[in-house]
Amino acid sequence: MKVLKKVSFKTLGCRLNQFETDALVTSFHNAGYQVVDYGERADVTVINTCTVTNQSDQKSRNTINHAASLNRDGLVVVTGCMVDNYKEKLESQEQITYVVDNDRKSRIVDLVDGHFSGEVLHPDKLMGDRFGFDTVQKSLHTRTSVKIQDGCDNFCTFCIIPSVRGRAVSRPVNDILDNVRRVVDHGFKEVVITGVNIGRYDYEGKTFEHVVEQVLELPGDFRVRISSLEPDGFSNDFHRLFAHPKLAPHLHLCLQSGSDPVLLKMRRMYSAKQFMDIVERFRTAIPDFNFTTDVIVGFPGETDEDFQKTVDFVREARFSHVHTFRYSRRTGTRADRMKDQVSGRVMAERSEVIRKLANALRLDYMSAMKGSSQRVLIEKVNERMMATGYGEHYLPVTFPVKDPTVNRFADIQLTGIITGDDPVMTTEQIDRQFI
Ligand code: SF4
Repeated sequence: MKVLKKVSFKTLGCRLNQFETDALVTSFHNAGYQVVDYGERADVTVINTCTVTNQSDQKSRNTINHAASLNRDGLVVVTGCMVDNYKEKLESQEQITYVVDNDRKSRIVDLVDGHFSGEVLHPDKLMGDRFGFDTVQKSLHTRTSVKIQDGCDNFCTFCIIPSVRGRAVSRPVNDILDNVRRVVDHGFKEVVITGVNIGRYDYEGKTFEHVVEQVLELPGDFRVRISSLEPDGFSNDFHRLFAHPKLAPHLHLCLQSGSDPVLLKMRRMYSAKQFMDIVERFRTAIPDFNFTTDVIVGFPGETDEDFQKTVDFVREARFSHVHTFRYSRRTGTRADRMKDQVSGRVMAERSEVIRKLANALRLDYMSAMKGSSQRVLIEKVNERMMATGYGEHYLPVTFPVKDPTVNRFADIQLTGIITGDDPVMTTEQIDRQFI
């Protein structure tokens, strides 16, 4: 019997990297490799790095060292954004077998196949294709992403992405639709529309909203979620699309700061008022719409007054989840060269204030959702027959089931909250016959 070569993956960073790893898992699986958990002995380890902050670089470096020490005889393939930032340095490291930039990431399996068949290829000879990833079949998750766009032209002053992922490029509409059809055929029930800055989608005059509309019109029992979005990437009546039953009523809209002077220094493309207008427009049309966001605390020059504006904004916008980042210097960005850096102590205090507020707002939102019906996509069922998954509003839900099948929808009514560090919604009123 032929012994399959084993491959493992480690992903750092954002959802886009996660999607790209999932696609690589599929490519290797289809090419006859056995995919094993990271940490197990493997013939090949692929590390999909992140370079968004100096800390991400450090984490990526540690992972590379760790992977190399785990598999001294195996191949170590390093890809992802750190490669686009430090290619030569990585190429000079002995424990790394191949360094593959983001443009060629989708073809790593060809490189590895070539290696094992004695045809050693330089990674730069692989064909570059940002959208050439295989359709995800064998994913580590219940929902899958479809990449519609890559790169960014915004040049926010804290962000290195435009230098590493390059200028914005959009995938042809028909390719996106084909990709969605295929993942739905493979049984995925939730498709997340992903990219670096998806609101900037522009392919032959077609916009991001056009893509979403077209995806929603595809047949099948699935729903669509939009991954994180910049507040300047859509029109004033974008909310009308959410009347479609397939589009999940949730947006992760990146705020970063509630203070205009800070937004300006960040080179964000909107004011606090413009952001709040969006929130209000959506909530007028869909009162229980769920907004989540990212906030950076301690951006250079952020005063107590600026920070207070962010706190007030977060409270008024009633985000149900705030991903709080302490500003982290990124060499090569304009913010890194700004003089008035905020101390670590102040950042820690500010992040704690936002964390507490966000926890309270999350419970408020959950309380307001009590009594509502949710269509939950079951992701896991444990040995006590408790299912967990997310409803369309992106609230985590747990409830008892009779049937242990995952990756299916269950319609339930939310009646309670299990509080704790990560509160979860639940139901007691359940018609077990149907679930
Ligand atoms: S919008 Fe700003 S933060 Fe987002 S990827 Fe582009 S430059 Fe970075």
